[in-house]
Amino acid sequence: MIKVISVILFVFALHSAQTQSENKNIVVAHRGAWKADNLPENSIASLSKAIEMKCAGAEFDVRMTADNVLVVNHDPDFFGLKIEKVKYEALTAHALKNGEKIPTLESYLLAGVRDNHSTRLVLEIKPSEISKERGKSIAREVIRQIIQLKVEDKVDYISFDIDILKELVSINPKISTQYLNGDLSPRELKEIGITGLDYHYKVFYKNPQWIQEAKDLKMTLNVWTVNDTKDMDFFLTHNFDYITTNEPELLFTKLFPASDWKLIWSDEFDDDGLPDDTKWSYDVGGHGWGNNEKQYYRAKSKENSIIKDGKLHIIALKKDFEQSNYTSAKLTTYQKLDLQYGKIEVKAKLPKGKGSWPAIWMLPASIKTDKEPWPLCGEIDIMEHVGKDPNVVHTSLHTELYNHIKGTQITFFDTLNNVFDEFHTYGIEWDEKSIRFIYDDKLYFESHKGQNGRVTAKEGWPFDKPYFLILNVAIGGNWGGAIDESIFPNEMVVDYVRVFKRK
Ligand code: MG
Repeated sequence: MIKVISVILFVFALHSAQTQSENKNIVVAHRGAWKADNLPENSIASLSKAIEMKCAGAEFDVRMTADNVLVVNHDPDFFGLKIEKVKYEALTAHALKNGEKIPTLESYLLAGVRDNHSTRLVLEIKPSEISKERGKSIAREVIRQIIQLKVEDKVDYISFDIDILKELVSINPKISTQYLNGDLSPRELKEIGITGLDYHYKVFYKNPQWIQEAKDLKMTLNVWTVNDTKDMDFFLTHNFDYITTNEPELLFTKLFPASDWKLIWSDEFDDDGLPDDTKWSYDVGGHGWGNNEKQYYRAKSKENSIIKDGKLHIIALKKDFEQSNYTSAKLTTYQKLDLQYGKIEVKAKLPKGKGSWPAIWMLPASIKTDKEPWPLCGEIDIMEHVGKDPNVVHTSLHTELYNHIKGTQITFFDTLNNVFDEFHTYGIEWDEKSIRFIYDDKLYFESHKGQNGRVTAKEGWPFDKPYFLILNVAIGGNWGGAIDESIFPNEMVVDYVRVFKRK
């Protein structure tokens, strides 16, 4: 019952999000657009990418060296050097991971106005760790440089330090300022001349009345850092002026869907730590899973399933645990996402080596409740790979009449390019008539209900009911075969899981 209500609310939220007026571009790339191309945050490359994508804004962080050079960097230190305590020269001994030097504000602004007709520069002035006074002098130096470079009309200023914003307003009461710290109401900000608020999303969940208050006061509404689709829906529904995100591409697909698919569920794996337990459950145990698999699947073990660097890592280890010699993880959306028809896209990099058996696949809830044993329940294998056949990627459908025990499963395989070092997207498009396996946006294999005279009743086509998604790395077993002991740790890396329904 609870589940039904939440589904209704969710659908309502989606519907409301869609009614957002003419879908204005409100995408602010947090520290530039760095994630999809693995660029350094706060680099000129990530700024240029945000401009190329035509983001509404590109956010970046400004600090000042001991010799008063303004530089762009999030943390107070750079390769162990305290930015405020060293001269700029010292910072140039190090480089960002793409080879760039730490950008000066001047170089950043010059890059930020080149071929840029749509992206505002959202300049965060970091508080000084030395003194409040120095924070204000950083603000004055920022303004001096902005005027000198004649880029005043391109920049919005944000800060956690209210005194820095006050200093900016005292120099020029007309400039656009947004406060980040979340502890002042819109009215309090307005009274001291601040023109907007850019608060953490949880602040707005706690103080929803501030949204209308800001609108009534004609203040700019921005929010950080919104990476999850359900949060995006909330702020789209509330017609925010800006949404600051590490996932600009995802927000764009919500604002301007290019296809007739509507995103209804996703995990972008942005929050470090264990997988989000509102989205994922674990299958646990070492009992072979019907295939004589050798691993023990563990729940909530950071050794075996962890989110870091914006990606989910499912890691099989050579480790004695319970009666098994290997551990791994099997994540499922059982009772979290039950999908009947739609589109699934999983972007992943596969583990390498003999004995490894990663899979992206689906089972129906009916197998758990035991009303329908396998294979009567049905199984959709979106992607399977066994290490003994490198780069050969399989898709299959299993049913009571057509399954691998009988050798009659509906299946296809082909060789892909470099599945170990490159991310590929593996997915399906599924409706009443067929399941189409889509890899890297291209049709890989397709199976129609009743194709080749196959039975269309549930014994032959059990795919007209909800299924949940499964991600796992199995070790050995009937298909995984002999295990090369040198393959560990053996990990599948998942950049995202996205689920769509037809509009
Ligand atoms: Mg920032």
